[in-house]
Amino acid sequence: MKTKRLFKENPYLVSSEAMILESLPFEGHTAVILDRTVFFPEGGGQPWDLGRLTIKTGSCRSYAVIKVIEHEGEILHVLDTSDDVPVNSVCLLELDWQRRFDSMQRHTGEHIFTGVFDKLFGGTNRGFHMGDDYMTIDIALEDRAKVDTITWDMVKEAELRSNEIIYKDMPMIVRHFDSFEEASKEPMRKPLTIEEDITLVGFGSTDYDWACVACCGTHLKSTAQVGLIKAFKLESNKGMYRIYFEAGRRAFVKYQEEMETLHTLGRKMSAGTDDILSKYDAQTEKNKEKSFQLSMLKKEVVSRECKRIVKALSDNAYEGLPCERYSILTLDDLTQLGRALSPSIKKVFFLVHEPSTTVLLVSDGKNNCGKLVKENASIYNGKGGGNDILARAIFTKTEYVDTFMDLIEKHLR
Ligand SMILES: [Zn+2]
Repeated sequence: MKTKRLFKENPYLVSSEAMILESLPFEGHTAVILDRTVFFPEGGGQPWDLGRLTIKTGSCRSYAVIKVIEHEGEILHVLDTSDDVPVNSVCLLELDWQRRFDSMQRHTGEHIFTGVFDKLFGGTNRGFHMGDDYMTIDIALEDRAKVDTITWDMVKEAELRSNEIIYKDMPMIVRHFDSFEEASKEPMRKPLTIEEDITLVGFGSTDYDWACVACCGTHLKSTAQVGLIKAFKLESNKGMYRIYFEAGRRAFVKYQEEMETLHTLGRKMSAGTDDILSKYDAQTEKNKEKSFQLSMLKKEVVSRECKRIVKALSDNAYEGLPCERYSILTLDDLTQLGRALSPSIKKVFFLVHEPSTTVLLVSDGKNNCGKLVKENASIYNGKGGGNDILARAIFTKTEYVDTFMDLIEKHLR
C-alpha cells in the first residue's frame, strides 16, 4: 500500500495536498495512486467519497474524482478524464464533505442501532446495506440471542434506546491495533476475522462489548452528531429479520416527508394527526355499508333487467338477434345478467358493454358462444373467448362491435 490514509487518523479532514505516484487507465478513465489521500474507498457498507483533484503545477487542471476503490492493494482515484495526468506532480484534494458527512452519520448510526440490538436482544447483524433510499440490517437470532423472535415493538424499543445514546453525546472510540493478539483481548460483540491492521470501533466505553466491533469505515466524533435514528419497517428475510431504518439528516428529511404525507391526507379527510385514524376507521365502515347497499341494488337491477328482457323475448319485441346496451352496469354485472338470461335464449342474445366496447354473447348452449367469438372476433381485430352459454368479445372501436354482431346474425340466419 503506497497511500497514507489520512481519513483513518482524521475523518474530518476535507482537503489535503498529495503527490501523484502513478497514473493508469481504469474502466475507460484515468486513475491515479497518491502518496496520501482524504478520499475513503468503498468498504464496510460505506460508499466511496467524491470530490476534486487539482494539479497545483503547470497546467493547473482540475478533475472530478468519480470513484475511489481499493484495487490490487492500492487505492485508485478514478478521474473524469481519460487523458494522461502528470506523475510526480503535487495536487490539491478536496472532498465532497456533504456526501462524506452523510455517509458518516448513516454509518455511525448503524453502529449504534446494531449495538443496541445486541445489548437488548442479543441479535447478530449478519448483513448491512446502505442504499440510496434506505439502510437495512439483517438480524439473526443465533447463540447470543436472548429472544426467539423480533417484533415491531422490539424494533421501537431499540430505536428509542439508540436515540438515548445520541442524547448522551457519547464519544465514538476508534482504536488501531497492529496485531490480532492485542486486538482480540478487547471486549467486542463479534469475533475478529482480520489478522492485522485492525481498527476497533465502539462508543461510550471500551468496556461495552455490545458497542465494539472491528470496522474500516469513517466515524463521527460523538454519537450526538448522528442526530436521529428512525426505523420504519420490519420484515422476515431468509430466517433473519430485516430492519429498514435511516440515520442523521436523512432520517430527519424522511420524517419531514412522511409528515407532509400525513398532513396532506389529514387535509383531504378533514382530520388532524390525532383523529385521522378514527376518521379513517369511520370512513371504512361507511364504505363497507355503501358497498353492501350497492351490491344489493345491482342484484335488484340485474334481476329486474332479466325479467324485463325475458318478457320482451316472449312478446317478440326484438327485431333480428336481440341486443341490449349498457354503460352504467359493469362487465361483471352483465355476466351475472347473461347467466340469468341463458335458459331463456333461443339463438344468441347480445349484451353490449359500451365503455369497454365489449359484447357478451349469451345462449342456452345450443349455439356455442365461445366458438362464435373465437371464429369471428379476430376479423375485426377483436379478442376474447368463453364457453357454450357465455362468451365475450372485446373490440377497439364501437363500430366493430356492430359489424361483429351483424356478422354473427348472418351466420345464424
Ligand atoms: Zn464503522
